Amino acid sequence: MRVQFAKRVDNMKGSEIREAIKLTLKPGMISFAGGLPAPEMFPVQEMKDAANHVLDEAGAVAMQYATTEGFDPLREKIAVRMKAKYAIDTVPQQILITNGSQQGLDFSAKLFLDEGDVVLFESPSYMGAFNAFKAYQPKFMEVPTDEDGMIPSELEKILETTERVKMIYVIPDFQNPTGRTWSLERRKAFMEIINKYDIPVIEDNPYGELRYEGESIPSLKSMDEKGLVIFLGSFSKILAPGYRIGWICAAPDILQRYIFVKQGADLQPSTVSQMEISRFMELYDLDAHVEKIRKLYGARRRLMLDTMKQEFPAEVTFTYPKGGLFTWVELPEHMDAREVLKECVERNVAYIPGGAFYPQGSHENTCRLNFSNMSEDKIVEGIKRMGEVLREIMK
Ligand code: PMP
Repeated sequence: MRVQFAKRVDNMKGSEIREAIKLTLKPGMISFAGGLPAPEMFPVQEMKDAANHVLDEAGAVAMQYATTEGFDPLREKIAVRMKAKYAIDTVPQQILITNGSQQGLDFSAKLFLDEGDVVLFESPSYMGAFNAFKAYQPKFMEVPTDEDGMIPSELEKILETTERVKMIYVIPDFQNPTGRTWSLERRKAFMEIINKYDIPVIEDNPYGELRYEGESIPSLKSMDEKGLVIFLGSFSKILAPGYRIGWICAAPDILQRYIFVKQGADLQPSTVSQMEISRFMELYDLDAHVEKIRKLYGARRRLMLDTMKQEFPAEVTFTYPKGGLFTWVELPEHMDAREVLKECVERNVAYIPGGAFYPQGSHENTCRLNFSNMSEDKIVEGIKRMGEVLREIMK
């Protein structure tokens, strides 16, 4: 059968991350590829208990259609959490529950980007966002970024000289893929610039609560006086991604548009998922749960970085993330991380080549490694094997 697809489909392709996750299914594979939480941290018994409560107390409600905005008791809890964790003074009416924060990315592009409009982002950045945005046929433009975040003078230069910049996409806390966090000074400088240009900013923050050292830094949204920042949050990394529950926090006039988009896309978030998460938060202590996750991932991060220091050739550098799930590795410039990956996969180790995190490719000497998902012995063994491959190739 020959069918003609819409023009936008030309730009769509499968995510390299999804492909890499398939590798993890190969028996014996040590995978640092996906951004998966540790499954042993999922509160299965507690969620079972929460589900029983929901179904016993309000089973028919949980199975029924409900509002597009989301389950009010959950929106209330999220509003409280936004203040406690991100210094964001908000109200439940400014929260829209989404099908994971990924849906917030798709909706953002749908709301702000016409074909040919420019979207700015850190370089590198989360490939899942590019894949979501691509359907709306924008132009992607990288803003040079260093260890402290987006470089304000570079951002300003681009804004002065580029037309049709309609959206800026950033991950200021424990960025995917680099693990880097923006400094407070950079956040302030960024907001000053944004306020001059009135451009909407998508602050994607699925990792903010997963800090393993240092003090948390106020979110961009907490400094937002003009209602330009749209904050995307998620339960995926602090509870479990399978429920597919995230949220958008935005100024009322902007949120209203997101609500219209959500209605058209899928009517509403899953009633039963929302009610179960909300009941979990009443029956159990989510903060205590996050603390357990932080301890485990913090230790795994330390172990991975220490082992890399021992096992990788000195020419290979990597970031020291203070939180999140990833470290970012740079090989000497002439090397190709995709080629190295082929050798690694032969030895049952996988990661994601970093070129995938740049929409225009390049930077093929980089890679992203996840430290949350593999057990301690696999982290050590996998890094040792990767070190062997690197030493052999670099000999
Ligand atoms: N944003 C970033 C930066 C991510 O890394 C991810 C997934 N790992 C998402 C959004 C999507 O997460 P979810 O839809 O599960 O909330």
